[in-house]
Amino acid sequence: MSLTHDDQALAASYVLDALDEAERRAFEAHLATCPACSDEVRSLSRVVDGLAFAVPQQTPRPELRSRVLAVLADGPRSDQLAGRERAPRLRVREWLPLAAAVVLAIGLGLYALQLQRRVSTLEARVGDAERQVQTAQEATLEARRAADQAQTAMAVLAAPDMVRIDLSGQPSAPQATARALWSRNRGMVFTATNLPLAPAGRAYQVWVVTADAPVSAGLLTTDSSGRAAVFFSTPPDIAPPLAIAVTLEPAGGVTAPTGERYLVGRPL
Ligand SMILES: [Zn+2]
Repeated sequence: MSLTHDDQALAASYVLDALDEAERRAFEAHLATCPACSDEVRSLSRVVDGLAFAVPQQTPRPELRSRVLAVLADGPRSDQLAGRERAPRLRVREWLPLAAAVVLAIGLGLYALQLQRRVSTLEARVGDAERQVQTAQEATLEARRAADQAQTAMAVLAAPDMVRIDLSGQPSAPQATARALWSRNRGMVFTATNLPLAPAGRAYQVWVVTADAPVSAGLLTTDSSGRAAVFFSTPPDIAPPLAIAVTLEPAGGVTAPTGERYLVGRPL
């Protein structure tokens, strides 16, 4: 059986091993003399080799041969038609779930965006509420502090053992004046006016000067106009004060006075 160059279509069957023994021999004989068919077999072989990796290899079934031959005999035109008919069915099958997934993803994305905005809004509101609560708490604390101070000042003023000591400004601050209301049992209310602003790193310190030694009552912080009103709790076993004094000391205070005296007063 001799083959001509026109039987190129057999190349596909040959590569798929769908030829019978006689056809195979004849085609191989033709291959030896026909470069076009040889090229066709070579390129088809590469495709088949590739398929062998992609799908489980199977021995060609008997009907494969006739189908392959029929398809090849029909020529390119019917191939194109078949492709065109098949394509829309595949597209619908493949794109419908994909389109549904895309719509779903967009929907979820919008929903997530909406949730994110609502969460942001709520977070901002919670932040505002927290700040308001904190401001209210600070105001309450401040009011309680003021009430406590007023109460302790009242308690000192009403104390049966209350002693009043007026202090006068020393050469370093002649305009300054102060008053101490002291009760051994209830502590000391101390007010001052016209004190110069303490330099950076320095602070005013109030002393209860006893026969033994000056005892620190505490630090005195003035406002910008040089005024101060402070309550000091003094030790109940303190010796009777001979004087009350205010000195300028390193910030944080010292255990014994070291700085210049600004205010000094003795009990009447
Ligand atoms: Zn040929």
